[in-house]
Amino acid sequence: MNAAQRMTLNSQLDGNDFLYHIGLSTEDDLAERFSDVKFVCMGGKPERMRNFANLIYDVLGRPKNCEFDTVASGDELELKDLGKAAGRYSFFKVGPVISASHGIGAASMSVILHEMLKLTHYAGCTDVTFIRVGTSGGLGIEPGTSILTEQAYTGQVEPCYTQVACGREIKYDSKAPLDVAERLRECAKTLGHPAMVGSTLSTNDFFEEQGRLDGALCSYKEDDKMKFIKRCHDEFGIKNMEMESACFIAMCNRANVKCAVICVTIVNRLMGDVISTSHEELKSWEDRPQNIVAEFIRSNA
Ligand code: URA
Repeated sequence: MNAAQRMTLNSQLDGNDFLYHIGLSTEDDLAERFSDVKFVCMGGKPERMRNFANLIYDVLGRPKNCEFDTVASGDELELKDLGKAAGRYSFFKVGPVISASHGIGAASMSVILHEMLKLTHYAGCTDVTFIRVGTSGGLGIEPGTSILTEQAYTGQVEPCYTQVACGREIKYDSKAPLDVAERLRECAKTLGHPAMVGSTLSTNDFFEEQGRLDGALCSYKEDDKMKFIKRCHDEFGIKNMEMESACFIAMCNRANVKCAVICVTIVNRLMGDVISTSHEELKSWEDRPQNIVAEFIRSNA
């Protein structure tokens, strides 16, 4: 049997803590409530992460080790939004899974990821896998295809995540370990969903940093945009663009936890900027990475 993977968190943590943005403290029986967590799955939107929690609830055969709200109208159980009181993020505990929203961009992602890492640490969880499930703009990729990030790049196309700490920039490795990604790719194959491993541009902005021409402000023209995104595609093998993977992978690497990023592409940026897909089609594409991760969890739980 493999030895449990040991998290490497801040050695100055003293065991007394208030996880302010998710509204939990070390006084809240964290070990009793969360020590069985093996997967922390994160995505941008609160409602989608509630849907994901409900999907996992069904896929795992309605496990008992969940946190429920009791619905006033009867005995029916509903998964409880544990982040509701703090008012920043939504998160749900369902069997061995936490399903949490992370908002948009690295700033929002990093806050909840710090607190999810500390939560699983204080709860005494072992061998937890962190997975980001999201959407992205593809480069030369048929929309609806999921990309499993291998190398995340900054908006300046550097293979790292830049953390500012006490006024200094520190560049951390943002290459994802490929074992979880490869297993997710197998699950995608089982479900018949198109998926591939590739590099990802992870920016601090949806508009100018991703070379869009349709922001309220723009400092360049079509020619510069095409040069930039073609260079990303041709020189760096970048297959998609989103806003959280570099931060997510770098923090997971620093904490020594397994991780993967799977994002479906919802537009081909070599063809245009605007996401004009119908609501129904978009929803069916957004479901794909969730279904792939649910299959991964079902086959590993
Ligand atoms: N998310 C992004 O960051 N960019 C896109 O083009 C689509 C989703």
